[in-house]
Amino acid sequence: MNYLKERILKDGKVYPNNVLKVDSFLNHQIDPAVVNAVEKLMYEHFKDRKITKVMTIEASGIAPAIMVANRFNVPMLFAKKTVPSTLKNQERYHALVHSYTKNTDSDVIVSKQYINKDDHILIIDDFLANGEAAKGLVSIAHQAGATVAGVGIVIEKSFQPGRHLLEEMGLDVYSICRIQSLEDGKVTFVDGDE
Ligand code: 5GP
Repeated sequence: MNYLKERILKDGKVYPNNVLKVDSFLNHQIDPAVVNAVEKLMYEHFKDRKITKVMTIEASGIAPAIMVANRFNVPMLFAKKTVPSTLKNQERYHALVHSYTKNTDSDVIVSKQYINKDDHILIIDDFLANGEAAKGLVSIAHQAGATVAGVGIVIEKSFQPGRHLLEEMGLDVYSICRIQSLEDGKVTFVDGDE
């Protein structure tokens, strides 16, 4: 069993609406050993994809994304949920993203300056649920004419439709750990995913 799964079983807390809280090691306080393990596995999986940039969405994707970007020795770019006053409409790509945990919509943006058609983008996020965040990032990459080299997820909730949605788009989705169920407050991993 990998270290991330051990931490989930030990410290993860199941909340209503199938939300897993991992504030003590990933989403608020961050355990470097967790993100280190994540970064090594992501690198192993995506190392032949000629990655030129890692992209995520603020805020909780930033920690794993910067570690992965460091490993690939490429820049990390994060989509912002608020528009900087200095960035004009025509200077940015945007996508509407529905937040699973907050049940709100945000128009997330990325400056056109930092992404182009020659980029091979690795999308990284902390969780995959319905796939809204990843879909928004894929849309931004495509608006720039860039290639999406894959989607790397720290914790996938496999009982929700995100993976299916992204695979239908022809994307390689790699998750460090896959959760089968959070029923009765208990975390169960996908069979054979040990
Ligand atoms: P999706 O866009 O795939 O529906 O949801 C992914 C996003 O919602 C992630 O960026 C993550 O921040 C948040 N999220 C979804 N499910 C969970 C969860 O169970 N726990 C936490 N902490 N965040 C989640």
